[in-house]
Amino acid sequence: MTRAFNFCAGPAALPEEVLQQARDEMLDWQGRGLSVMEMSHRSEAFVGIAKQAEQDLRDLLGIGDDYAVLFMQGGASTQFASVPMNLAGPGDAVDYVNTGVWSRKAIAEGSRFADVAEVASSEADGYTHVPDPETWQLRSNARYVHVTPNETIGGLAYRSFPDTGDIPLVADWSSSILSEPVDVSRFGLIYAGAQKNIGPAGLTLVIVRRDLIGQAREGTPAMLDYAVYDKAESMYNTPPTYAWYLAGLVFQWIKRQGGLEGMAEKNARKAGKLYDFIDRSDFYANPVQPEFRSRMNVPFTLADDARNSDFLAGADERGLLNLKGHRSVGGMRASIYNAMPEAGVDALVEYMAEFEKEKG
Ligand SMILES: *Cc1c(COP(=O)(O)O)cnc(C)c1O
Repeated sequence: MTRAFNFCAGPAALPEEVLQQARDEMLDWQGRGLSVMEMSHRSEAFVGIAKQAEQDLRDLLGIGDDYAVLFMQGGASTQFASVPMNLAGPGDAVDYVNTGVWSRKAIAEGSRFADVAEVASSEADGYTHVPDPETWQLRSNARYVHVTPNETIGGLAYRSFPDTGDIPLVADWSSSILSEPVDVSRFGLIYAGAQKNIGPAGLTLVIVRRDLIGQAREGTPAMLDYAVYDKAESMYNTPPTYAWYLAGLVFQWIKRQGGLEGMAEKNARKAGKLYDFIDRSDFYANPVQPEFRSRMNVPFTLADDARNSDFLAGADERGLLNLKGHRSVGGMRASIYNAMPEAGVDALVEYMAEFEKEKG
């Protein structure tokens, strides 16, 4: 068996060790004679798996007891609606920073539920920087400020966050959660779809400060209400049990890699190699200002777009998969989340150099 290097933006590569453990436990989980997929979510065995996953996540991120960790469904896209429904009333002011495609989607959906203001934007320069927090036009009556720490499509990332005082900072962390240490206490709410850096699709993590729970507007569906999830320990209905179990295996794997410090070090090295190569080359380019470049998603273009399909075909042949850029920006994109080994980045750089030499 050969495993390809999968650069997909999501669902993304999972650590091979995790897949092997899942395979080994597939038919008979710890001598119980059944798969985790077949367990009642109320069983002692599954509740143990679920609690362990939550504890490991809390350890990794240093999440305090004043925060709830909710294992929800519907992806980050559902949170685009859940956040305003839970944290703001109809017509309440909510502030958003626009740094790319995912910010815009959050803004569009949020606008259906509250009075959204775009308080800063880097659209004018093609989303190649994060607007300086000093320039954000925050409203004092805003119920929260929404940011997208890592723009998966544009490959743009925040390096730091402002202190927004009493206004809770809300972050869509879908594509860079667990890639480096973060001070959770700076945020009111963090959410993330699982399929980039956490586990398989189907699970959505919400980390929310407890004082923000229980204020959902009238008419909020139970399945979107943080208070309902908190009270039921994320088992108000049948949760995506297998995805939850796999996320737990990923959390344990990250612990074995040296936790988030260990991940951050590896991720910086991987991204550094790729960007250094791109910057040294006259054939490949990345438009993002260096200090705001994502360490998870590296978009790049070829000097000649007519070579794109050639490049992708050659990559595919070598087992370098899913390098095609998002349809909205074109070019290429290498997503190099936690599970992408450094050898994958080395193989990509080697291929890029060869391609440039032959066809550039
Ligand atoms: C992938 C992604 C989303 C959408 O996630 P779904 O789980 O598919 O809804 C939202 N925001 C960011 C930053 C993403 O990377």
